[in-house]
Amino acid sequence: MIKDLFIGLSKNQLLNQAAKKYGLRLGAQSVVAGTNLEETMKSIKELNSLGISCTVDNLGEFVFERSEAIKAKEQILKAIDMIHTNQLDAHISLKATQLGLDIDYDFCLNNLKEIVEKASNYHMFINIDMEDQSHLQPSFDILDELSKEFDNVGTVIQAYFYRAEEDLQKYKNFRLRIVKGAYKESGEHAFQEKQEIDANFIKLIKWHLLNGKFTSIATHDHRVINQIKSFVKEHKIPKEKFEFQMLYGFRKELQFGLAKEGYNFCTYVPFGEDWYGYFMRRLAERPQNLKLVASQVLNK
Ligand code: FAD
Repeated sequence: MIKDLFIGLSKNQLLNQAAKKYGLRLGAQSVVAGTNLEETMKSIKELNSLGISCTVDNLGEFVFERSEAIKAKEQILKAIDMIHTNQLDAHISLKATQLGLDIDYDFCLNNLKEIVEKASNYHMFINIDMEDQSHLQPSFDILDELSKEFDNVGTVIQAYFYRAEEDLQKYKNFRLRIVKGAYKESGEHAFQEKQEIDANFIKLIKWHLLNGKFTSIATHDHRVINQIKSFVKEHKIPKEKFEFQMLYGFRKELQFGLAKEGYNFCTYVPFGEDWYGYFMRRLAERPQNLKLVASQVLNK
């Protein structure tokens, strides 16, 4: 029920527009690195100093105007330059809808090409984040096109989809992030029960660790992390073949602890004015995150 409420709120375009005007509010400042690139670079530098690399996301949703998609592209290109100039240990995560997938497929593909090409000159990786089911296949199609020219691009496998195992096998030679899946999907396409999703998540991670190129294990679930730690030990999987990932601001002790233990760790660092939909999805995943809201509001 609560999950549905927050997923519903995340798609509310009026609230999304209003949120942009008022800056980071409602506790979002704990989980969003900043509204501009300067603040974000500072956060990345701090994480890098703890031995943590970053994947940087310029937040943005509901892009239906070409001018907005171009603005997002320019901002991402600027982020790539700043990461390079500041010699930071970071790469980019992006969403195809922010770059025009809902406007025109070729327009979106060309925007992505420009980004991937620039990053490729700096040997920087670009991750195509995965969104809801309606954007899944077009996002894979874009990846297919890009990988004909570039090798610095990869994507995400969402374990709640029935098709996830097939996609994983098809894309095993890519650097892949494996997640449970953040959107509300129907039983026609996705597992609905938490236990089924968790079981598939672990199965896919293990398969990719044994057969794939590089695995980003993206979860805040300590039970999954512990199982994977035992699995990599048992199968002597070298640390260079995988990393753990978590979102900025969540379970910081666990993030710092894994990095200290010597695991490769990468924090997903979202930034920008368009924080609303991202923040609502985090509340949908874990209503306990409302505590963040309460503490921030009370501290005002
Ligand atoms: P959950 O299933 O939410 O929680 C499992 C258990 O872990 C909880 O019961 C609790 O015991 C513990 N736990 C979880 N969170 C906390 C916390 N904050 N504090 C204390 N204990 C906690 N989804 C997509 O659909 N597409 C993407 O491209 C995508 N990219 C992502 C990138 C990263 C780096 C991460 C971390 C997630 C991404 N997601 C993405 C979201 C993902 O699909 C899940 O919705 C999200 O990670 C919640 O699932 P979980 O595995 O973290 O744990």
